[in-house]
Amino acid sequence: MAEVVLEGVGKVYPDGTRAVRDLNLSIADGEFLVLVGPSGCGKTTALRMVAGLEDISEGRVVIGDRVVNRVPARDRDVAMVFQSYALYPHLSVRDNIGFGLSLRKLPKQEIRDKVDHAARILGLTDHLDRKPRNLSGGQRQRVAMGRAIVREPQAFLMDEPLSNLDAKLRVQMRAEIARIQRDLGVTTIYVTHDQTEAMTLGDRVAVMKKGELQQVAPPQELYDRPANLFVAGFIGSPAMNLLQARLEGDGQGGDGELRLEVGGQTLTLPGRVLDERPALRSYLGRDVVVGIRPEDMEDAELAGSGAGEGGGGTLRSTADLVEAMGSDVLVHFSVEAAQVVTEDTKELARDAGTDVLGALEAPRTDLVARFSPRTRVKVGDPVVVHVDTGRLHFFDIDTGAALW
Ligand code: ATP
Repeated sequence: MAEVVLEGVGKVYPDGTRAVRDLNLSIADGEFLVLVGPSGCGKTTALRMVAGLEDISEGRVVIGDRVVNRVPARDRDVAMVFQSYALYPHLSVRDNIGFGLSLRKLPKQEIRDKVDHAARILGLTDHLDRKPRNLSGGQRQRVAMGRAIVREPQAFLMDEPLSNLDAKLRVQMRAEIARIQRDLGVTTIYVTHDQTEAMTLGDRVAVMKKGELQQVAPPQELYDRPANLFVAGFIGSPAMNLLQARLEGDGQGGDGELRLEVGGQTLTLPGRVLDERPALRSYLGRDVVVGIRPEDMEDAELAGSGAGEGGGGTLRSTADLVEAMGSDVLVHFSVEAAQVVTEDTKELARDAGTDVLGALEAPRTDLVARFSPRTRVKVGDPVVVHVDTGRLHFFDIDTGAALW
């Protein structure tokens, strides 16, 4: 087991594509770090540079106490688990798991013991004589894990290992991987584009976008204090609502007055928000991007006394769509506010082939609130939405940086 450190790591492919830029990450001994980001953001490239499957163009990678830039993959003492399990169809489960050890010419009895041990950890003991074709997808995934485990590597490197499994199995195996990693205490870097996987598995989660690290933090911190608009929009489902609003107030903090003008409506904020986020002071009288998590909004009728009185922390609208999810109800509505046009939204719109200006300069912004299932709101009803204004997020409109 070992610490893995990336120092200023960059990758430019021979065709000139820059896949990773100045990546700095330090993964502690025994830590589970998840690299997450949209397709093409460079996470696989980063992992492959650690594994030794891709040359490192810039910076250095340290595993344990060795700089491994020039160490070939087979000598890096890391075990890679891929999304395609790459099992040998003609070999039994036992021989598949022990394959790497046989290559290294370990004594037969030692291989037997190590395979038995891995099989016990993975619940494969009864399947050791089977061929891969006679296993379920989840069991095959376990065999691939078994191969990594018996090598007793300094680190596990996993690239979307669950993406070939159906949704239910994925959840099961996710829990398995978490347990196994905890039991073995092996430093792990895990690549996924799935934010739920990232949030549930990682001790820390590193969010990448276009080859660059955006933020690395424990899951809850990422959720509560996203560093910028990209992370705010990427982590959380449904995504954080983002709208433009003008921040007004007397700048007093504490018991002072602070409010947000959202189109024609006003949200009153606790004055302490200014004390908690001193950066906001210089934005008084200016437009900011406000982020509201869906769960920080509730049907005002259910939100407790005074909440439905109008003013205060409420937004009035009409329910455009009501989705009963069982445990909660997603209520879609819109408010009069300029849409937030970040580089990302422009890009999304371009990718989707929509008219960027036409689509984005609409004077209304769509929001989603997560109401309690006790709500009686139906499609087309007027709706008064209570906003927990102590839990709002704020971002600079130009840079997208979180304001603290
Ligand atoms: P995905 O989740 O889709 O696998 P990713 O975040 O893992 O994406 P990478 O596979 O690391 O992203 O790719 C990062 C960028 O590098 C992409 O723009 C990709 O097209 C490019 N890329 C990957 N491999 C090569 C290559 N061999 N030559 C040139 N460009 C490449």
